Amino acid sequence: MNNELANEIRSKCDIVDIIGERIPLVARGKNFFGVCPFHDDSNPSMCVSREKQIYTCFSCHATGNVFTFLMNYEHIDFREALRYLGEKVGVNVSGISIARKNTKYDSFYEAYSFSLKYFQNNLQSKIGKDARSYLAARKIDEKVIKEFEIGLSLDSSDDLTKLLTSKKYDLGVLNRIGLSSDTRDIYIDRIMFPLYDLGGKVVGFSGRIYKDNGQNKYLNTKETPIFKKGQLLYHYHIAREECRLKKSVILMEGFMDVIRASTIGIRNTVALMGTALTNEQLELIKRLSNNVILCLDGDDPGVHATLSIGDMLLSHGIEAKVVVLPNPEDPDSFILNHGKESFLNLLDSAVTFNDFKLRKLKEKVDFRSDEETAHYINQVLMETTKVQDPIRIEIILKKLAKEFDLSYNTLEMRFRELEKPKPKEAPVVVTYQKTKKKTKYEKAMEQILYFMLNNDWVISLFEKERFIFPNEESRLLASEIVYYYTTYGNINIPDFYTYVQDKEEIVNFLNEILAGNYSESTSRDDLFEYFGVVREYSRTQEIKRLTNSLKKEVDPVVQAEIAEKIRKLRIGDK
Ligand code: ATP
Ligand code: MN
Repeated sequence: MNNELANEIRSKCDIVDIIGERIPLVARGKNFFGVCPFHDDSNPSMCVSREKQIYTCFSCHATGNVFTFLMNYEHIDFREALRYLGEKVGVNVSGISIARKNTKYDSFYEAYSFSLKYFQNNLQSKIGKDARSYLAARKIDEKVIKEFEIGLSLDSSDDLTKLLTSKKYDLGVLNRIGLSSDTRDIYIDRIMFPLYDLGGKVVGFSGRIYKDNGQNKYLNTKETPIFKKGQLLYHYHIAREECRLKKSVILMEGFMDVIRASTIGIRNTVALMGTALTNEQLELIKRLSNNVILCLDGDDPGVHATLSIGDMLLSHGIEAKVVVLPNPEDPDSFILNHGKESFLNLLDSAVTFNDFKLRKLKEKVDFRSDEETAHYINQVLMETTKVQDPIRIEIILKKLAKEFDLSYNTLEMRFRELEKPKPKEAPVVVTYQKTKKKTKYEKAMEQILYFMLNNDWVISLFEKERFIFPNEESRLLASEIVYYYTTYGNINIPDFYTYVQDKEEIVNFLNEILAGNYSESTSRDDLFEYFGVVREYSRTQEIKRLTNSLKKEVDPVVQAEIAEKIRKLRIGDK
């Protein structure tokens, strides 16, 4: 890995800008604060330091430099983060090859990337004629086929499996990742749409029939370690940048809808691919934008899904907008049938989720019945308690009063009544480890390491004292700090992050230490006190250990030796 280049890029951008483009930050003193995106929270517990060029969450202890932030936030790897920032600050990274980290799933990705090319070739060859006609009839042209890497599986029981095994791909792996079943192909004579992970790597396929042969319309790859449907959204890797530009994200049901929308230049879209929205997907959508537009199918299941997804978003503080398609169209068919302008108009006419819900409630009511009417009005009031904006609340109440010729006061009184037992917010699930109370000695160790990271002179003192930590992880981190310092002549926390990023234990420990929130500077006296605390601890530990071995020892000569050691340690005690 090229550290110099990484450091150059890092020094040319400001972490406050990069994070600030993604989550709102508020300046407070020297630092900036925002709601941490790495755990479920609504308090601004993440601190971003312009001076130190690091971020730290005091709640979940997520910490790091601008690269770590992007990697975790955007779900990209180091190379992608480097490329992204390099382009942003005008440092050419194209010629630099950074060794990719090997993962145990490399063979999975390779098999998928090989199959992708194979499917694409099939579609372009003579064999793909019928499939190409089908796509042409659906107005999927060459450009789209290329952009979305659409391919074709052959009408053969084992062509791909044979080819892959002849290329030394392991049959066991092919079975595990859903390309083969025993020695046979899974996908037979289907148009193949690759499915991507959040970073844009192909991790699965959805195969669609293109001749009426009575089979299931779509066949999707089964769940594998690299393909977890509930954690993905189709088109996420493309939508990421688009959503930022357009300041909104459009959620659709199928990937055909997303593909169609892209043909008219709308790319801030993601698709669910036939699953109910999971919490993970909800988090991903929130990251794309807080301005969510639901554009699901116009049929009953689509309306149903809109209601349930809208409610889910609402309970996470987002009131979506809803695009209502005529039944039974989906975005794909609507754009095909009515064209770009009509679809853009439709997007413009999106209603708030609350309006949509009230409209749906109303459809079922028989207003000739007083009882049903009253029930309906109560339901509307109940839904209105979820609205945040007091002005909107008043508008809704006024409209309702007018519509049913009721007094505003009666409605408002009832509304306040309903509002009172505010549905208690679901308790926040604490997913991170609660910080356990630290002992005096653990704290002293942390402080030594913390000040080493922040003051060069502490590193010199540490070396001069020949200080040795009693535990492995501190020793490891300390030796990396000393090594870094001797190599680069100073210690710089954000670059140190880049340097240790591949060593997971060190990064975790480093995060914990930096989240310690100690004061900036320290004195020699304080340090000697910390050293003393740790040394005393080491000594008591050693005495304990020796006392134990003394108990077990049977040889009187060795016993005497151990006893002597203990005595010496005790003298040193005070
Ligand atoms: P098309 O226009 O080609 O019929 P669509 O986008 O209208 O496709 P839908 O039937 O609305 O497809 O389904 C939406 C999504 O649900 C699809 O993109 C697909 O991912 C998923 N899906 C649909 N049917 C199946 C199935 N039988 N098995 C697995 N996934 C399916
Ligand atoms: Mn369709």
